[in-house]
Amino acid sequence: MFKPTAVVTGGAGFLGSHLCDRLIKEGLKVICIDNLLTGSTNNISHLFGNENFLFEKHDVTNYIHLPGRIDYILHFASPASPIDYLKYPIQTLKVGSLGTHKVLGLAKEKKARFLLASTSEVYGDPNVHPQSEEYWGNVNPIGPRGVYDEAKRFAEALTMAYHRFHGVDTRIVRIFNTYGPRMRLDDGRALPAFVGQSMRGEDITVFGDGSQTRSFCFVSDLVDGIFKLLMSNEIYPVNIGNPDEITIKEFAEEVIKITKTMSKIVFNPLPEDDPKVRQPNIEKAKRVLGWSPKVSRAEGLKITIDYFKRHLGC
Ligand code: UDP
Repeated sequence: MFKPTAVVTGGAGFLGSHLCDRLIKEGLKVICIDNLLTGSTNNISHLFGNENFLFEKHDVTNYIHLPGRIDYILHFASPASPIDYLKYPIQTLKVGSLGTHKVLGLAKEKKARFLLASTSEVYGDPNVHPQSEEYWGNVNPIGPRGVYDEAKRFAEALTMAYHRFHGVDTRIVRIFNTYGPRMRLDDGRALPAFVGQSMRGEDITVFGDGSQTRSFCFVSDLVDGIFKLLMSNEIYPVNIGNPDEITIKEFAEEVIKITKTMSKIVFNPLPEDDPKVRQPNIEKAKRVLGWSPKVSRAEGLKITIDYFKRHLGC
């Protein structure tokens, strides 16, 4: 039986690996490409030996040679947590620019549908709240986060140019904060940091006064939204995220409560350009994709904290 083939760049990462799982479940063959800079084969080892899965270790900023038919390409390769892109600023800029160019070139050559993983970071430290797709953002190009934000903004521009100039069939998802199993405990993000600290009985490091907000989406909801977008006809960006907004201090208190830790919150300096608020407006995703998130933070946190306990011995 014919099975369409999808390429997932960054397929050994947190989100990429969940996408590989979902695409295989939907009856596709998956070619996962990853240079393992921040991804790990641990995230995809359960797929080794599956006849519908192939892993290629490759850096997509270099020419990509793949023989045969390709129907879909999902471009998820990039360092994506603030700690990671501060550690790898040049690689982050290169994969967003040169890498996106190579992957779009592959999509053009193969006449494949291309989906770009973009981010709520394109909105920067937003002056409009919640953020809808029409908002153009407030990004500091020369600040520490600029390497990620501007790379993704460039990637969006390049995607639209390939669509308009070369007729490539493109999709753009703007991903808001997402959490779930396979996050790295050391990726510096709020949730793994708080869980790791609470397990080790260390202080919980809230940055700033903790009044900044985020809206956390469980990974299965995010992947569902992305799959629906891939199968839709929507060319322009679509926000996918959970609008349930919370302050970071309240979020730390939730983790303390669930993990029953004796750890106390300490307040550390707020990183430069850390957005003060973030919440997706998901009206477009509801309207165009018939999608909205289903997993509550209470349920999602329980699953994720159990994962950390089981897999990371903490
Ligand atoms: N944060 C924190 N303590 C930590 C790690 C992060 O207070 O140990 C804060 C961070 O400053 C930001 C929020 O939690 O305001 C979410 O950070 P994360 O790195 O998860 O994602 P971001 O939305 O900033 O990309």
